[in-house]
Amino acid sequence: MLIRACFRFEGELNDFLAPEKENLEFEHLVGVTDTLKHLIESIGVPHTEIESVHVNGKARALSEKLESGDRVHVFPHATPVRLRSARFVIDGHLGRLAAYLRMLGFDTSYDRAADDKLLAALASAEQRLVLTRDVGLLKRREIEQGYCVRSDKPRDQLREVTQRFALASQFDPFSRCMDCNGQLCPAPKEEVVDTLPPHTRETKNHFSRCTHCGKVFWRGTHYERMLGWIEELREQARLCS
Ligand SMILES: [Zn+2]
Repeated sequence: MLIRACFRFEGELNDFLAPEKENLEFEHLVGVTDTLKHLIESIGVPHTEIESVHVNGKARALSEKLESGDRVHVFPHATPVRLRSARFVIDGHLGRLAAYLRMLGFDTSYDRAADDKLLAALASAEQRLVLTRDVGLLKRREIEQGYCVRSDKPRDQLREVTQRFALASQFDPFSRCMDCNGQLCPAPKEEVVDTLPPHTRETKNHFSRCTHCGKVFWRGTHYERMLGWIEELREQARLCS
């Protein structure tokens, strides 16, 4: 049996709506057995983006159902969102974002071959926040914390994520392997010298090595560029706070 209810979405939740539904109250046909989670997600908004739902002015759980004539008001998270622990799992399309978050020292799981089921299971088992541009993935019930990355450009994605979760105070640059997420430790030159290109062997003296995959890192021109960029991210965070 279908009944009529009215919905209105606040702020950035409108990013997920069809244009004719943005920033206004609209009527929606509702099944009497449908939960608020199901209804809101069928309109397009994943549950991970929602802070609270009011029905006729009173806060309600996403597991509750509606009655005819109910007026539903849906609110986004207040930003920046403060995380208990900044640990991420990233879907297969956002590999550059994963590498950049690792560069900043954040524990970031990324497996290009992982399907949605595996990503959701990992997020749940290890309490990682899911970063994706796939709204369907964020609708999965087992995912508690997630965020739909709006930008399609990796550098803008990193700025978006660091600002949304106020990560700047937790940056620990070059402490983690960009390739595999392992921890980096200082490595004496004599232990890595055989793996170095000739110019690096002659000009560099300080190295670190990934404790997981063994990759060796040193401070080259790439490092200097990254440092400048990290300082920009910190400066933008200061301006936003
Ligand atoms: Zn590694």
